[in-house]
Amino acid sequence: MRYSGFKVIKEALTGHKGWKPAWRDPEPKAHYDVVVIGGGGHGLATAHYLAKVYGQRKVAVIEKGWIGGGNVGRNTTIIRSNYLLDGNEPFYEFSLKLWEGLEQDLNYNAMVSQRGIINLIHSDAQRDAFTRRGNAMILNGADAELLDAEQVRREYPYLNFNDARFPIKGGLAQRRGGTVRHDAVAWGYARSADSHGVDIIQNCEVTGFRVENGKCLGVETSKGFIGAGKVGCAVAGNSGRLMGMADMRLPIESHVLQAFVSEGLKPLLPGVITFGAGHFYVSQSDKGGLVFGGDLDGYNSYAQRGNLPVVEDVCEGGMALMPMIGRARLLRMWGGIMDMSMDGSPIIDQTHIDGLYFNGGWCYGGFKATPASGYCFAHLLAKDAPHPTATAYRFDRFRTGRMIDEKGMGNQPNLH
Ligand SMILES: Cc1cc2nc3c(=O)[nH]c(=O)nc-3n(C[C@H](O)[C@H](O)[C@H](O)COP(=O)(O)OP(=O)(O)OC[C@H]3O[C@@H](n4cnc5c(N)ncnc54)[C@H](O)[C@@H]3O)c2cc1C
Repeated sequence: MRYSGFKVIKEALTGHKGWKPAWRDPEPKAHYDVVVIGGGGHGLATAHYLAKVYGQRKVAVIEKGWIGGGNVGRNTTIIRSNYLLDGNEPFYEFSLKLWEGLEQDLNYNAMVSQRGIINLIHSDAQRDAFTRRGNAMILNGADAELLDAEQVRREYPYLNFNDARFPIKGGLAQRRGGTVRHDAVAWGYARSADSHGVDIIQNCEVTGFRVENGKCLGVETSKGFIGAGKVGCAVAGNSGRLMGMADMRLPIESHVLQAFVSEGLKPLLPGVITFGAGHFYVSQSDKGGLVFGGDLDGYNSYAQRGNLPVVEDVCEGGMALMPMIGRARLLRMWGGIMDMSMDGSPIIDQTHIDGLYFNGGWCYGGFKATPASGYCFAHLLAKDAPHPTATAYRFDRFRTGRMIDEKGMGNQPNLH
C-alpha cells in the first residue's frame, strides 16, 4: 500500500476503513539466508537495504520486545555530520545524504527536518578546534559555516552571551543537520522491509547462538531455533550481553543516557544548539516541547531509567546557556542503554565466528548513523566486504592501535 495525499483524502471520506497494517506479524520460518538480531533503527535499516539494495529476500529481524522500543525511540532525534576524523566524517556524511532522501525511499513521513545545528563556541581554543572540524567537514563534501557571536545572537538573541561564566564567542553551524521523528524511522524502515518480504518477528528473544566447527548455524530464541546462513547482531546497548552468548568479550561498555522534554512552549528554538562549555543539547519538537539531554549517568547499567544527579547537571547546563529555561516545567524524562566503545566510534565487522557479524558501539550518536549503519551492515552481510565508507570500523583497530578517537579522550568509554 502506497501512502499519498490522495490516499489520506480518500480514507478521510470513506471512514478510514482501507488502511492495512504497516507490517505483518509472521511466525518464524525454520531457516533464513540472513537473520538480523535487534529491531531497532539499525537492525531494521539493515533489513531494508539487504532486501531493497542487495536483493536478499529470505531475511528476518528478530526483536525481543517491540520495534522502536529501544534507543531508536528514546533518543533526542538529532542528525548531523559534523565530525573531524577521516574514519568518521565520510560515513556520517553518507548517512546525512541518505536521510535527505529517506522519506521518498521509504514512502513514509519520518519528519526529517533540516532545521540546522549550531555548536556554540566559548573560547579561542574552541574556535580553533571548530574551525579545523569545519574544514574537515568541507573537505569531505559536508557543509559547515563558522559564525561569530553577532551572527549567533541574530538567530538566538535570548542566549546568555555576556553575563555568563562562559560567554558565547561564536558557533559552528551545519545547516543540513536537524531532527527526525525517531520512532517513525523504525516504523518506516519496518514497513519498507516488510513490503520487500522481510519477516519482522517481535516478542522473540535471542537466547543463544548455535555454533558448530567455528560456524554459526542460527540462533536459539524464545520461539525455538531459527537457522540462518548469516547472523547480524545489531542490539545497541545489549551488545555485550548478546555477544557474551557467543563467548565474545567486546571493547564496549553499557551506560545509561537520559533525555528530557519540557512542557509545550510557543516556537522558540529554530534549530538545534549545543552548549560548548558543558554537556547540553536542545531542540524544540513540533509539538512545542524543548527536547534536551546531556551526559551519561556515568556508571555501567542495563536499566532504562536515569538518576537525579544527572538531571540536575543537565538542567544546570541548560540554565547556563539560556537562563529562561528555568521557568519551563519538565514534562517527561527517560533513559536508554548506550553501547559505549573504547574510542567512541562504532564497529561494523565480521567476527571470528564464520557467519556471525556485528554492528555496535554507537555510543550516544547512533541515531544519526541509522541509514548509513544499515546500508553498510547490509553491504557487509551481502558481500563479505566492508562498504567503502565503513572500512575503518573494524574490530582489529583495538589490536593495532588505529583508534578513531574523535574527542581524544583515550580508552574511557563513559567520556566519549
Ligand atoms: C536518551 C538518548 C538520547 C540520544 N540522542 C541521540 C541523538 O540526538 N542523536 C543520535 O545520533 N543518537 C542519539 N542517541 C543514540 C541512538 O539512539 C542509538 O545509538 C541508536 O538508536 C542505537 O541503535 P538502534 O536504534 O538499533 O538501537 P535500539 O533501538 O536500542 O535497538 C536494539 C534492539 O535490540 C533488541 N534486543 C536486544 N537484545 C536482544 C535479544 N537478545 N534478542 C532480540 N532482540 C534484542 C532491543 O530490544 C532493541 O529493540 C541517543 C540515545 C539515547 C538513549
